[in-house]
Amino acid sequence: MSPIALTPPVEENRTSDLTLSGIEHSLQKTAPSVLKSQSNSSTLSDTLTNGVTNGTKFSNGVATPLAELDASLLNVTLTTSPRPVPEIGSAEIASQKICTDHMIQAQWTVQQGWSAPSLQPYGPLSLMPTASCLHYATECFEGMKLYRGFDGKLRLFRPELNCNRMLVSTNRIALPGFPPQELLKLIVKLCATDGAKWLPKSRPGAFLYIRPTMIASDPALGVQRPKEALLFVILTCFPPMDGSPSGLRLLASKDDMVRAWPGGFGYAKVGANYGPSLVAQGEARAMGYDQILWLFGENCNVTEAGASNFFVVWRTREGALQLVTAPLSERIILDGITRRSVLELARTRLEMGWEELEKVEIVERKFSMMEIEEAVQEERLIEAFAAGTAFFIAPVGHIHFRGMDLAVPMKEGEGGAYTRVIKSWLKGIMWGNEEHEWGYVIDEDMFGREVAYELSWVSGFGCGVGIVILIYGKLFGQVSGSKAFGVGIWAWGLKNLFSFSGFASQLLINANFTELSSSFYESILPPIYLPFVCLLVNATLFGTAIEIDL
Ligand code: PLP
Repeated sequence: MSPIALTPPVEENRTSDLTLSGIEHSLQKTAPSVLKSQSNSSTLSDTLTNGVTNGTKFSNGVATPLAELDASLLNVTLTTSPRPVPEIGSAEIASQKICTDHMIQAQWTVQQGWSAPSLQPYGPLSLMPTASCLHYATECFEGMKLYRGFDGKLRLFRPELNCNRMLVSTNRIALPGFPPQELLKLIVKLCATDGAKWLPKSRPGAFLYIRPTMIASDPALGVQRPKEALLFVILTCFPPMDGSPSGLRLLASKDDMVRAWPGGFGYAKVGANYGPSLVAQGEARAMGYDQILWLFGENCNVTEAGASNFFVVWRTREGALQLVTAPLSERIILDGITRRSVLELARTRLEMGWEELEKVEIVERKFSMMEIEEAVQEERLIEAFAAGTAFFIAPVGHIHFRGMDLAVPMKEGEGGAYTRVIKSWLKGIMWGNEEHEWGYVIDEDMFGREVAYELSWVSGFGCGVGIVILIYGKLFGQVSGSKAFGVGIWAWGLKNLFSFSGFASQLLINANFTELSSSFYESILPPIYLPFVCLLVNATLFGTAIEIDL
């Protein structure tokens, strides 16, 4: 089983909610299904990917089921006003304000648990000014991408890890738990609904940014654990983030500013990690740098680069070639999916050497700016890169640290050899050039098939009624055979046309003949043409318009 993005909390005899037992306690209340098979598996991490049972709440001492997040209860309401997809390279895409036609929402209350989730038109949220998240930063989120592959398929990259990490984050900020696989199903459904139109096959290599978010929505100012929460998932148009040809320019953080600290929440993707970092980021941008290189402690240990993990390739004084990144043990950096993937690929493909590349040791350890400085001065620094969903694998060309400008070697525009090979492997998996278990293919036809199936089932029922009438009429002479046959034909035609409209609309959208949403075809077209077809059938068969005389 592949590892999951969970930083196991340290126990150390503490009773805090942040220990493993604390997380279990919280899950017991809000998502016991993830603990169901705890007894059969050794770790909470293992159980996070397992089955579903009902939660429990106690009312007057009597246990009653508390609803868990359940994707199978999804209510679907499609938009009636689909919006145009912005052109690639347009100012609209650059603005990062454009979202797709739909979004997922699910409400949670401490009394009821999770309500049935909904897929609904994208639009504003309704929150009271007293909502907890607006005052106490009771908010967390995830960042993922939906990729349009060069093979025409839509893919996610290791999405189960994001869903697991979201659970770690919700727990850190006192938000309710949920079975991660249910969140994944909701994300997949949204991608399957909007992906074909907003990431058409004519745009291979493009992506949408996926933002699952949870906020505490309690309309009460008391400083307390949230009693109400809202989960939502949106898809946003994002510009490509290829970085500049000369590599990222990083400004090392000054000692008056820390991003995260032991005992804090750097390991969780909570909004409270990001807002306060924007002052430093704004200053860095104004000075011509791309990101802050976040340092921690008296030794100026290197932690993360902006919202990415940070890697260096250097040669030790003893002559060993190493790929080094900061460890997760202090829980001050995010357990990045890209970081994890870089490490896993490097361990399986680079540690023994790759083609003409020298073999490299993979090291997770604390390292300081002084070590980087020495490596630059002694010409032992080979390359450096940032790794994260947003910036992907971005070569670093320059680091400014306490008045010193450190040039990081890189081939113009491409980064060093290790950066390039790691980037190409990941790119291959994400955009489908390499078949790999990390690439999660979205079945785009799922939605059209479901709608067609539902409609054809309903009209199929009508067809059955027609046949019963026919048999009844024939047996008892109460209905003329020809008219009953007409009813059957009517219903049968309806069934086929519904199926056809669902199928045809998907064909049209997938082939990108139009950017109109599927809801248009499925809801508007059949009512327009069906009556004419049915009238035609009746008239042809019986020389008359609809005439059912029972
Ligand atoms: N570090 C921080 C602080 C981040 O916000 C991110 C992005 O989510 C990362 C690292 C990289 O994580 P991932 O590779 O999962 O995107």
